[in-house]
Amino acid sequence: MITPAKNTTTSKTHTDDTSGARPEWTAANRIVVKLGSALLTNNENGALQTKWLASLLDDVAALKKAGKEVVLVSSGAIALGRQALGLPPGALSLEESQASAATGQISLAHAYRELSAARGLTAAQILLTVGDTEVRRRYLNARETIHTLLRLGALPVVNENDTVATNEIRYGDNDRLSARVASMVEADCLVLLSDIDGLYTAPPAIDKTARHIDVVREITPEIMAMAGDAGTALSRGGMRTKIEAAKVALGAGTHMVITSGKIQSPLRALATGAKATWFLASSDPVTARKRWLSGQLEPKGAIIVDAGAENALRDGKSLLPAGVADVTGTFERGDAVTIMAADGRELGRGLIAYNHEDALQIMGKKSQEIPAILGFEGRAELIHRDFLAMTRT
Ligand code: GLU
Repeated sequence: MITPAKNTTTSKTHTDDTSGARPEWTAANRIVVKLGSALLTNNENGALQTKWLASLLDDVAALKKAGKEVVLVSSGAIALGRQALGLPPGALSLEESQASAATGQISLAHAYRELSAARGLTAAQILLTVGDTEVRRRYLNARETIHTLLRLGALPVVNENDTVATNEIRYGDNDRLSARVASMVEADCLVLLSDIDGLYTAPPAIDKTARHIDVVREITPEIMAMAGDAGTALSRGGMRTKIEAAKVALGAGTHMVITSGKIQSPLRALATGAKATWFLASSDPVTARKRWLSGQLEPKGAIIVDAGAENALRDGKSLLPAGVADVTGTFERGDAVTIMAADGRELGRGLIAYNHEDALQIMGKKSQEIPAILGFEGRAELIHRDFLAMTRT
């Protein structure tokens, strides 16, 4: 469904007025912001746009002060690195891109460290590959690290690990990577800062009749057709990768917004109703996760629990090893398993924190005994309640 454009203008004034903000923005507590190379670096000479980045980090500091959690997904490594290495303009080979990323990531991390510290923020660098977001065990590790950083008040800054990612196994663009990150951390909102203020019915630069789209509720073939390709020389992602990102975000219950980053303080502008295209998710992240858990994963085993554990689960608690009577199947940490009562009723499904061998060893035992039994410091819960969906009875 498409809502045609109203006459909205981008506010560039610095006020705390949030009256023009969409309710989805005001309500968002966990926000992922993607910033592309075309915004971060100068198109001509590849230099870092320090003043712009400083204004963005002012916005981030303000959001964090208001109690929000922010994760940045930042490009710029290749653009900065190629300049440092003196590579000529034009297309780079994969090896040259990787060498550039290795070089530029240092400058990028340094800039984030300095500019964040000046605003009382602690930046933390996370480099991810496709495998880190797709292989469940690594996905859980990456997720846990980002959650821990957020809990500790840090500002995670994510980029693709370009130096090791080869063509077949790389995102190549940070639009889709940022959507994976948003879904991984169950963000309420994903902001794609772009060189264009949203989706148009046709490329506005070449088509005078192009109309701006304010709100998208469903990614229809019509929306896909509008995407065309709006890429620039520096940023790999065009409108198409942004729409693909929207599919991932909406599926995870995360709203997504495309807005222009070509102004100072672009996040503050969102709070005053900046021109943008909003992709609205029909459910929240928790509901989306539970739906995914209960319907789309093939269970690899079963955990049979006692009556006490069944009651605890119904009260919304996590599943502890103490309440487990038996374990069947062959599974790895992070696999989906069925939770069953001794009489064979399916109680729910969840992602398990131990493989089947370890689960068999710790079943029926107290969580404090886990280190002595397994020889390592495991999680207290066999299945954390965040990763558990009860079967409707
Ligand atoms: N990861 C790449 C970099 O840091 C950029 C990918 C993109 O532009 O989306 O240079």
